[in-house]
Amino acid sequence: MEETRSRSEWQRTFRTFAEEVMAPHVRRCDEERAFPTAIHERAAAEGILNAAFPEELGGSGLSCTEFGQVIGELSAVCPGMTWTLVFNRGALHPVVAAGTPEQKELFVTRLLKDNGYAALGLTEPENGSNLLAATTRAVRTDSGWLLNGGKCMSGNGTVADVFVVLANTVVDNRKRGLSFFAVPRDSPGVTVGEDIEKAAFRCLPTPSVTFRDVALEPISLIGRAGDGEILLNELLATIRIGGAACGTGIVAAMLKDALAWVGERRVYPDDRLDTLSHVRLTLGRLYVELCAARELLERATALADRGLPFGKESSMAKYYATELAVRASNEILQLYGWRGIAADHGVEKRWRDARALTIFEGSSEIQLLNVFREMRRAATGEGGL
Ligand SMILES: Cc1cc2nc3c(=O)[nH]c(=O)nc-3n(C[C@H](O)[C@H](O)[C@H](O)COP(=O)(O)OP(=O)(O)OC[C@H]3O[C@@H](n4cnc5c(N)ncnc54)[C@H](O)[C@@H]3O)c2cc1C
Repeated sequence: MEETRSRSEWQRTFRTFAEEVMAPHVRRCDEERAFPTAIHERAAAEGILNAAFPEELGGSGLSCTEFGQVIGELSAVCPGMTWTLVFNRGALHPVVAAGTPEQKELFVTRLLKDNGYAALGLTEPENGSNLLAATTRAVRTDSGWLLNGGKCMSGNGTVADVFVVLANTVVDNRKRGLSFFAVPRDSPGVTVGEDIEKAAFRCLPTPSVTFRDVALEPISLIGRAGDGEILLNELLATIRIGGAACGTGIVAAMLKDALAWVGERRVYPDDRLDTLSHVRLTLGRLYVELCAARELLERATALADRGLPFGKESSMAKYYATELAVRASNEILQLYGWRGIAADHGVEKRWRDARALTIFEGSSEIQLLNVFREMRRAATGEGGL
């Protein structure tokens, strides 16, 4: 990709891709729960799949603000397809942020060159919101590390070439703490399960993966052993930008379609739906809330692009945009009557996909707990609230 593409050019590129390449296949991929390999291959060829990686590693170097914008464009058409891109970047964040040049070459640059996929292994069957309690364990050996445990809901999992896994490490029988490992899929002892059936994001495979006595070379450890919590917080703040952008993308697309619908639909012979004040007030209010969600998102991405802490802001943006997406999709669906829940109007898919947003990347409750912690700190500081 040429280096000089402007922000609006990027947005146009992604919008065209979403409308021309993704849109015709959305319904089939959702119904068949099919991973859209051909679409992702084309996205890779056009520099879209890995656009958010730094240029020196083979990506197109999108800023965080641009990342948020393009995820919004793609999510308006299909969040499930979009999330392959988000998880590719999110999973490899620890390598991008803290990997050695050799690790970056091995786990990022080569993967991008081969149009490969990465998956993120944080959630365990017993530990979802409480990631610090990870029971997947890596023990140092004479030749590297021995990994045992399992993860679930690993997005991209069935197609992934590498899993980036959060594990509890025990070093010399003393130091315990979290660490990230890049685990090649073909390592002996790695078993990837079947995709699970789910109501949302159905073309994004989310299988379980188990690690049984997986022998890892020292190069697999990303960052220092036991220091994974810092990387984890950075990673979560980064992928939450995706969640927030997805929420705004879904709401914007639903509002646009709803405006056309209420402008056409006559419930009574002389009155279109958009003559009812209830309808006008609902859509007007949702637009105000969409603009507020975008402001929160831009505030978070602007901080990230300036290299400043953006954890609280990304929690606020993710919380607000995803809760809005759930509520707005529900209210808008109601305006369509039976067509709202019929498959061929596209409304019910957005409603289903929106529902998943307040659960993953840290649920709404977890985002509010993050905000509360930061708010309390700010309240006792010089600036106040
Ligand atoms: C489509 C999709 C894709 C996903 N992809 C991935 C992936 O690629 N990699 C990965 O590792 N995981 C992935 N996940 C898993 C996701 O990150 C977890 O579902 C999420 O972190 C919540 O964990 P849990 O489902 O185990 O819920 P639990 O932790 O069991 O929580 C259950 C409920 O309790 C609430 N709760 C928890 N703690 C508190 C508290 N202190 N106060 C108040 N309420 C609380 C939660 O908000 C939630 O409502 C994905 C999930 C989905 C839906």
